[in-house]
Formats: sequence, C-alpha cells, structure tokens
Amino acid sequence: MPYILGPHISTAKGLHKAAETAVSIGANTFQFFSRNPRGSAYRDFPPDEIAALNQIMRQHRFGPLLAHAPYTLNLASAQDRAYEFACQTIFEDIRRMDAIGVTMLVLHPGSHTGLGTEKGIAKIVAGLTPALTGPESLTVLLETMSGKGTEIGYRFEELAAILRACGASSRLGICLDTCHVFAAGYDIARDLDAVLLEFDRVLGLERLWAIHLNDSLMPLGSRKDRHAPIGQGQIGMEALLAVMRHPALSHLPFYLETPLSDQEHGVEIAQILAAV
Ligand SMILES: [Zn+2]
Repeated sequence: MPYILGPHISTAKGLHKAAETAVSIGANTFQFFSRNPRGSAYRDFPPDEIAALNQIMRQHRFGPLLAHAPYTLNLASAQDRAYEFACQTIFEDIRRMDAIGVTMLVLHPGSHTGLGTEKGIAKIVAGLTPALTGPESLTVLLETMSGKGTEIGYRFEELAAILRACGASSRLGICLDTCHVFAAGYDIARDLDAVLLEFDRVLGLERLWAIHLNDSLMPLGSRKDRHAPIGQGQIGMEALLAVMRHPALSHLPFYLETPLSDQEHGVEIAQILAAV
C-alpha cells in the first residue's frame, strides 16, 4: 500500500517551495512550523503561494500536511506572560492554519514548571478550550512527550485527562512520537502490540491522527528527548518499520523529525520505502 511519509521542511522560501522540496526527495507530505519555532514572529501566506502549494499537492497526491506549533509555546506555564503568549498563539495559529486549508496542528501540551501536573493540565485545558470552540474545523494534535523536566503528556493518562477535561472535543487528537514514547518508557521496540493496546485502552486508537517517526539516541525510559535518524538509535530500523506496517497504523501520515538535511531525508525516505 502507498504510505504517507515526509520530513519536517523549512517554509522560509514559501509553502510551495517546501512542497517542491518534498517532491524532489520522494516525500508525499511534510511538516512545517506554524510560525518561528523559537520566537513569536509569523508571516501571512499570500493566496498565490497557497494556490501553488495546493496544485503541487494535488498533482503529486499528497497526504495531509502537519503544522507544528512553536516550541516556546507553554500552555502550562506558571508565568503569566508566557501563559498569555501561549493562549494567544494557539488561538491565532488554529485560525491561520485552518484558513490556508491545513487540517492538523500538533502541539507540545506544556511543562508545568513546578506547578504540578494537575494544575498544569488545568491551565492547558483553560487555554485550549476557547481555541477549540471557534468556527474552524482544524484538529489539534497533542504530542506524546518524553517526560524531560516537568513536561506533561509523557503518560497516556495525562493526555487522556486533557481530552476528558476538554469535553472529549472531536477537534482534539494525538500525534504519537516514536522517540518520545520510547524515552518515556513505552517499549515499542520489543512489544509494540502491548503499547498500542495500552494506547487504545487509555486514549482510544481512533484519537491517533499522526506519527512522528524518529529513532531515539537515548534508552528506553530515559525521559531524554534526543532524536536520531531511522536505524541509528536505540529503537532501530526493524522496530520502526514494524510501526509503519502495523495494521492499526499503516494508513496514518508519518512525519520524520530526524536530524538530517533535506537531501539526507531523501536518502532516508528511499531506504524506508525500499524496506517497509
Ligand atoms: Zn513536537
């Protein structure tokens, strides 16, 4: 079956240029930042750029694009200014991405910075709720995290608590990051089926919309977030191919966040597609 697979690509030269890059390296989707990942700046995408993007996507039968919210955004922050920035940014970026036809925006739930998990989750829910109740149809994906520092969302139960407190909104889903879940202690390398059973029990597999396909430099349960190219980490090529082949997952879009250049991603994609 045809897989939907692509890397994270810079949109500095335009979304249509990023799509051209994706085509040139054998990808049929890509992930991009909804705005500057380490700041707050963004530019509006002009209509001709969106038209050019859509033409390339149609012509090359792309799967859905995935927008990624900035890393600096922390909806669980104890600091008022950081929290207000996060609430405003997620509200704006849902609207901006929906307006250009992007259907999914992935978000790191947040780090509670000492408040505790429960209070952190309450802040995340308070920030997300107004952003999810507008006229847009875009789905916000909460990312499974590695659990470094005070990160929320490294246990499936924490993500389930956010979903529940948001009234199980149909506009919320999950993006499973293979590096992060492994670092968080879910052993997808040795027992993928058990991890997926647990995911289904706690979150429901119907909530899973996308996979971040990454190897992990750090071992199982290390709670350290260090992405490695596919086959060059502790999860390994075969286990990551098994993720792609799994009947519950193979239809999902897979996004590579491996530390490689565009051209190197092309080699990685060719290796994956030849082996899967
Ligand atoms: Zn992420």
